Amino acid sequence: MSDAAVRNVIIIGSGPAGYTAAVYAARARLEPLVFEGSVTAGGALMNTTEVENFPGFSDGIMGPALMDEMRSQAERFGAELVADDIVEVDLTGDIKVVTDSAGTQHRAKAVVLAMGSGYRKLDLPDEDRLSGHGVSWCATCDGFFFREQEIAVVGGGDSAVEEAIFLTRFASKVTLIHRRDELRASKIMADRAFANDKLEFAWNSEVAEIHGDDKLTGVTLRDTSTGETRELPVGGLFIAIGHDPRSELVKGQVDLDDEGYVLVEEGSTATNLPGVFASGDLVDHTYRQAITAAGTGCAAALDAERFLAHLE
Ligand code: FAD
Repeated sequence: MSDAAVRNVIIIGSGPAGYTAAVYAARARLEPLVFEGSVTAGGALMNTTEVENFPGFSDGIMGPALMDEMRSQAERFGAELVADDIVEVDLTGDIKVVTDSAGTQHRAKAVVLAMGSGYRKLDLPDEDRLSGHGVSWCATCDGFFFREQEIAVVGGGDSAVEEAIFLTRFASKVTLIHRRDELRASKIMADRAFANDKLEFAWNSEVAEIHGDDKLTGVTLRDTSTGETRELPVGGLFIAIGHDPRSELVKGQVDLDDEGYVLVEEGSTATNLPGVFASGDLVDHTYRQAITAAGTGCAAALDAERFLAHLE
């Protein structure tokens, strides 16, 4: 099946990047069609509780409420929102073709990619249930909530160690849980960690269970060499074992870096394909915040608008 009309712009993704791109494109009267995803419309913040660092909300705002606001704002200016996944794309020609889960093809002169990225999980039964209630994937976002508490960080690479060090600003004690008996992190980062007296190490350890009813109360650690278990009471658990950009859809067409992030021209959101722009955590190794995703979503819509103006 195919939808004959050629749109100005199609946006794939509905986190802060996708919705912000939709607000800007709609206000520029480009009548964007937005594919929000079938399960996780609203993006990563739908899985969290309070967001205290998005400017404009002095008392903080719940993640889902923030995303509802962004969604309504995009709709108010005429963005067409569809809670479906794009399962296939052909972005190489002048007219871009994207296919939804029912097999319907949609065409546009420009496409904004805003599919975000997924944090790697431990795949433990209570992990999702306690997300936002002690279990977190973002020290910058949530560290402040754990003032004077004992917490743990899972991981052994540079970002885990960096997060653990950062969290010692708030927590009374941080235990870094690592499967091996030495860190993978760079020497300079490891030295900094060893010199920090609020930081302890649970070597050769993995999280076997997560405990808590409404809030995290602790974890069971399993020794990776002996299999023995022990309890670690903690109020916070930060999982820092990496993230995977959702770029599978565009692989082979849009240039990606070694880790799968979409590559964009410096200082812009342009990909290697004319008319295809990328934004948010899909391109961002570094900042990975709602506000930075919204910022590059805005930039992608403005880049698409200029691209379309040059076609006329
Ligand atoms: P996402 O929010 O990940 O959205 C991507 C969207 O694209 C998803 O809805 C997905 O379903 C959709 N999608 C993917 N593929 C397809 C497809 N093929 N078709 C259609 N749709 C598709 N940041 C802060 O600034 N403050 C915080 O307090 C904060 N707390 C966080 C708490 C948690 C638990 C997590 C996980 C993250 C938190 N972050 C926070 C980080 C923030 O959520 C992300 O940086 C931000 O959401 C990235 O926005 P994005 O638009 O790039 O992607």
